[in-house]
Amino acid sequence: MSVTKDQIYDRLRTVNDPELHRDLVTLNMVKSVAVCEGLVSITVELTTPACPLKDKIQQDVQAAVGAIDGVTEVRVEFTANVAQASPQQRASESNPLPGVKQIIAVGAGKGGVGKSTIAVNLAVGLARAGASVGLMDGDIYGPSLPTLLGLDGENPTTRDKLIQPFEVHGIKTMTIGKLVDPDKPLIWRGPMAHGAFRQLATQTEWGELDYLIIDLPPGTGDVPLTMSQLLPLAGAVVVCTPQKVAQDDARRAVAMFRQLQIEVLGVVENMSYFIGDDGKEYDIFGRGGAEMMARELAVPYLGDVPITTALRANSDAGDPIANFTGDPTLADHLESVVKALAGQVSIHTLGGGLVQPTISVS
Ligand code: ADP
Repeated sequence: MSVTKDQIYDRLRTVNDPELHRDLVTLNMVKSVAVCEGLVSITVELTTPACPLKDKIQQDVQAAVGAIDGVTEVRVEFTANVAQASPQQRASESNPLPGVKQIIAVGAGKGGVGKSTIAVNLAVGLARAGASVGLMDGDIYGPSLPTLLGLDGENPTTRDKLIQPFEVHGIKTMTIGKLVDPDKPLIWRGPMAHGAFRQLATQTEWGELDYLIIDLPPGTGDVPLTMSQLLPLAGAVVVCTPQKVAQDDARRAVAMFRQLQIEVLGVVENMSYFIGDDGKEYDIFGRGGAEMMARELAVPYLGDVPITTALRANSDAGDPIANFTGDPTLADHLESVVKALAGQVSIHTLGGGLVQPTISVS
């Protein structure tokens, strides 16, 4: 007896997405099924190209469908369509960026913990996985993206009154650092900070994006407030180093996002430990501190990134791609954080939608 598509769909109804806890058929992730003799070909559409559980899904599909009598081989192909904000919210008049599926802020309690570095590598990592990605330098007081992305030779242009983002390292990006005199201090009063952030977000031609990553200024100032009122966010990532003092500041950042009703998608422990040129690991700052804090605050932990000379040097050289193509240990850490974040965004979106940009200030 030949194998039928109905049999295959029945088996696929027993395979759950491990994070979304619903089966692939119900989640509408099975895009095609073809049978030829004993060979079954299945196309599964993931909610992000940076899916952390692709291998597990593949194994589960192969095991479930391979158990049908007469099936000799199961081939699984993957496509991806980034889970998007609720259609109403994307289309709503108050959303200034309807072409962007997911907006993710990257914040930190204090400066110098590697917030901008992590934001850059999240953006580049998501793009390398196949997503269309923008990176906005919302750190209007101390923009780092001109250096971290090597934008020295780039000059901003406008078209139809919209600022054209730079297209570098596979991403689109814009920073206030390329719109003002680089040697002048950036002193913004509250309303000016609001205006500068708003302009970068809404007057840059971001176009259609799967993810827009926003590098926030450190601490808990005006900009996150402006952002929460302006943009429908998927949520925020908090970058923290392991030391107690850094954790204390990161806790305040988590509390701020919660007060602004912004989901905390997770904590990244940066500078977790030092890897010497000899490959030896040195636990300088108290590895695991940020993970413990994340657990205490009941927010997801997205992983750690060690201190490496390569990351510092590639950042200074404005060459983030080298972080993914050089030292495999560094690349593994960064890719794992990228996937963990992409997973959390999908979970959050499919498990309840985005945060409405409403806020009451007392
Ligand atoms: P922040 O945005 O929090 O102020 P940056 O991202 O600008 O911090 O990083 C500060 C400095 O630390 C930069 O020179 C950056 O290259 C370096 N840095 C950040 N993370 C690491 C790391 N894991 N290993 C080595 N250098 C790092």
